[in-house]
Amino acid sequence: MRIETDVLVIGLGPAGGAAALAAARGGVSVLAVERKKAIGVPVQCAEWIPLALGRHAQAPGVLVQAISGMESVLPSGVVVKTHAPGLMVNRAAFDQALAHAATEAGAKLELGCTLRQLDAAQRLAWLESPQGSMECRYKLLIAADGPDSSVAKLLGLPRQPVAHARQYSVSLRQPLDETRVWLSDQYPGGYAWLFPKGGVANLGVGMDKSLAPDLKTPLDRLHQRLVAEGVVGQEIHGRTGGAIPVGGLRPGLTVGHVMLVGDAGGFTHPITGAGIDAAVSSGERAGQAAVAWLNGKGNALLEFESDMRDQFESSLQRAVKRRSMLSLAAQDDLALRKGWVAFPEYFL
Ligand SMILES: Cc1cc2nc3c(=O)[nH]c(=O)nc-3n(C[C@H](O)[C@H](O)[C@H](O)COP(=O)(O)OP(=O)(O)OC[C@H]3O[C@@H](n4cnc5c(N)ncnc54)[C@H](O)[C@@H]3O)c2cc1C
Repeated sequence: MRIETDVLVIGLGPAGGAAALAAARGGVSVLAVERKKAIGVPVQCAEWIPLALGRHAQAPGVLVQAISGMESVLPSGVVVKTHAPGLMVNRAAFDQALAHAATEAGAKLELGCTLRQLDAAQRLAWLESPQGSMECRYKLLIAADGPDSSVAKLLGLPRQPVAHARQYSVSLRQPLDETRVWLSDQYPGGYAWLFPKGGVANLGVGMDKSLAPDLKTPLDRLHQRLVAEGVVGQEIHGRTGGAIPVGGLRPGLTVGHVMLVGDAGGFTHPITGAGIDAAVSSGERAGQAAVAWLNGKGNALLEFESDMRDQFESSLQRAVKRRSMLSLAAQDDLALRKGWVAFPEYFL
């Protein structure tokens, strides 16, 4: 089968949903494809978003609870509390609500549909779904296909450096309204977290696998400690994990008629691993740039690239450099304060 579209979006995570929504609202034709059969499932996320993103968490079933702040636990045992308001969401419902808004705006979605091949010069993509293969002629392509982007691979771009995360869903003995993070040489190149979500919590570790390939042992150890302290239950209700880009923005976010957004573009924060907000804003901006370009604004893609660099580059570059403080073999409170976003030393 052969199809044509103005904008082809690959991936329907938060970046792809936001891109499809913005482009469809601009009145151009949009096809967004997602290789999973159900958007956002399985969830690979600790499900925290900043307050400002609450505008996309209004659909029924998305919002779970508010978060007032963060407790950062240093190796000495010192606990530092910071004001860090946010929201805990059902991530699958969050992604599904964005995609639903995109269809309401006129975007066409194909689930269970995978990008297999690309001829970027001819602007042709080959898509595969259980219904068969499709050849899609597009005018612009938005790559929102995550940390291991197929589009980037097919364009011959290098792989991004990543950290790895492993996470359990456990019951909470008492409700909490603060996230808790642990910084320690047990989690080199990253940290451990407990993010409360109603009666349960996401308990995870994110680390540099080249420094410590085993994520299970430190996660199990932390879990058992919190069970003994009466914070969480013994039973593990769910397990997940995934890769988190830690290299900062790709050198080029626009390659010919392709824009790279969200994790595919390296927008995720290399220290905290937070990427939903940046995925939504880069996706939205790419969708708007696509509309402007299709309406004759020839420099719209270059403007997308420069806006994104202005907005994200310096903070991501700082994080790339400061992440080395979390990777040191011998760690102490002072070194870690320079490597973690909750401390003023991080910004000096
Ligand atoms: C364990 C873990 C915990 C995290 N916790 C948080 C958190 O609490 N808060 C936060 O802000 N961030 C968190 N992040 C990061 C956040 O999940 C990502 O930054 C965010 O998902 C990026 O969105 P995206 O749309 O760019 O990519 P993704 O959400 O990865 O979406 C990409 C989509 O593209 C699809 N796809 C890939 N290849 C193809 C293809 N060839 N054809 C069709 N479809 C394709 C995938 O199936 C996927 O659905 C966490 C990450 C992990 C791994």
